[in-house]
Amino acid sequence: MSDWEAESEEDEARQAPAKPSPAEWRPVTARASGKRGSAGKDDEEERGGGGRKWGSRPAPSREPWQSGPLEYRARGPFRGAGRERAGSPPLCFYLDNSLVGTLIGRSGSKIKELQESSGCKIQVVKGNYEAEIKIFGGNDKQTKAKMMIDDLIERCSQSNAGERYVKDGFKHQDFGTTRYEESHSGALKSGYSNPKQSINWASLRENKAKYEAMKWADLPPIEKCFYKESLKVASMSQEEADRWRKENNNITCDDLKDNEKRHIPNPICIFEDAFMHYPDIMANIKKVGFQKPTPIQSQAWPIILQGFDLIGIAQTGTGKTLAYLMPGFIHLDLQPIPREKRGGPGMLVLTPTRELALQVEAECSKYSYKGIKSICIYGGGDRKGQISVVTKGVDIVIATPGRLNDLQMNNFINLRSITYLVLDEADRMLDMGFEPQIMKILLDIRPDRQTVMTSATWPDGVRRLAKSYLKDPMIVYVGTLDLAAVNTVEQKIVIIPEEEKRAFTRYFIDTMKSEDKVIIFVGKKLTADDLSSDFGLQGIPVQSLHGNREQCDREQALDDFKKGRVRILIATDLASRGLDVHDITHVFNFDFPRNIEEYVHRVGRTGRAGRTGEAVTLVTRNDWRNASELIDILERGNQVIPEELISMAERYKQFQLKKEMEKDTGRSRGRSRRGF
Ligand code: AMP
Repeated sequence: MSDWEAESEEDEARQAPAKPSPAEWRPVTARASGKRGSAGKDDEEERGGGGRKWGSRPAPSREPWQSGPLEYRARGPFRGAGRERAGSPPLCFYLDNSLVGTLIGRSGSKIKELQESSGCKIQVVKGNYEAEIKIFGGNDKQTKAKMMIDDLIERCSQSNAGERYVKDGFKHQDFGTTRYEESHSGALKSGYSNPKQSINWASLRENKAKYEAMKWADLPPIEKCFYKESLKVASMSQEEADRWRKENNNITCDDLKDNEKRHIPNPICIFEDAFMHYPDIMANIKKVGFQKPTPIQSQAWPIILQGFDLIGIAQTGTGKTLAYLMPGFIHLDLQPIPREKRGGPGMLVLTPTRELALQVEAECSKYSYKGIKSICIYGGGDRKGQISVVTKGVDIVIATPGRLNDLQMNNFINLRSITYLVLDEADRMLDMGFEPQIMKILLDIRPDRQTVMTSATWPDGVRRLAKSYLKDPMIVYVGTLDLAAVNTVEQKIVIIPEEEKRAFTRYFIDTMKSEDKVIIFVGKKLTADDLSSDFGLQGIPVQSLHGNREQCDREQALDDFKKGRVRILIATDLASRGLDVHDITHVFNFDFPRNIEEYVHRVGRTGRAGRTGEAVTLVTRNDWRNASELIDILERGNQVIPEELISMAERYKQFQLKKEMEKDTGRSRGRSRRGF
């Protein structure tokens, strides 16, 4: 990894467990089915005692749905099995997750017994709903192990009157929720003594549904609709609603329900349209002095208050936090079961970074609503303190996925009581690799909850997440779907040699007005430290924010900047998204960001909440690969495009073409040399 800023929660996302003892459950790299040679080798090394350590294992080959591969490892009986395994592919099949416990037994006793009696190694890779079971060993031993597992599950199924186990059938089939897959040699097929029995898929499906129903059977009812449309909003014609949307940041909406297009609720124009029946909410809004709803709020409130799931594609600074918080307060307060009797929090907000989590919490506690209590749970924060607050009882949990997953796995938090879920900045959570943690968290949250998701962009990963975890959502886009830098910001580009950047930055600081406030973005933590100590020595008060600073120093830096004790913050991209400081007048890009998305996010730190702002970006010849995309963004924002930037983009294009041509020539030369 380069020295480009590693995001604050990366450590959580990549958390590696402590080195386990030889016979315990632990996450391992999932190997692709069928690559038997490598599986055998891995085990040999492990057995040899000098096996590879955690950090040096190869990158996992994971299916996107895999939530956390688990492998049972035991020594002893497999000492002689390595060579056999190197020749036989693993026998693979799938087992409903609910049956994995039966297979493993108490503290792994059952699976150990199975392994010892069959002489095979059994691997369990747990997925979202089902686990993949791999049996390693010679053909006969695999058959024996499979039959023993069949027998074990059969006995368990009979005693539980549930036939959730997929039996037999060596055909590669995909039956939607339950799969059985051949990855075994033909020899095993003929050697297997209990060939095809008919599979009762209907019963399997029914049992799965029954199991799901059982899992959620004792939950209290849930209430989602709290909207009473005002007469004025109800009387809006379709044309009026469309015109209003166009004039307000070009809002577009869609219904993503399959095979049906429901009416998208008309937008509200004043706060009373949404909250006239909720005087405490109105009092809070009056207290903070907001004049009117922001565009995302106007359209999101009527949708969320009616109980629909919502995807809000909006950047930070658009008022998206209140768009989900206000309806969330009402939702929490008006559930049929009183808050104190629900046995856990009712609302969960998942955010990608500590900074955003703290910011959402700050927003949350600004609006005291009926004594609703919130807590912020994030990696790097006081774990004991967080556990103590959670166990005493809170209504809203605002969390980063890594730490929440930790508390969930250790049973410090009950997520079954959550009825209102927010996935904030979903695109960023995916970028940071939080998908596995999110999947695990969501397994414990009731499926009939209401879910709101926000994202600044709408790439495939976010669409997939939305499809998996939201139910018949409506979507609201604010602004255009593709990259568009905030149009309230004037963007200036300065083409400059690398060695002159510091002097120019000093000149910029010297010409700042007393009321100006600037974030200087740099690419590396080292540069942030370097620049801030330089300026400090020159008597210029600055603060710095990057992932290598202690959490308390980061919070202090942010507080100093927010409260105006310093007017210059030197930061890495840790601060490029989500950071909400109203009065930033300038964004100064000392280093060009690593991609154009980050440029847009950085620029969005200024020109917030209806103000205007200015972004100054230093571009050196090393940044030429970004020139063309930058021109696109500038064009869309009607900004001045320097001639030098255009010629830089041209030169890069020529360079790319030349490179391509050279590659082609090289390839054809190689072919002719080889006699093609
Ligand atoms: P967000 O996009 O949630 O980060 O919000 C950016 C800032 O806008 C926050 O500080 C909010 O307090 C503020 N804000 C939210 N709603 C409004 C509104 N209707 N009018 C003015 N400011 C608002």
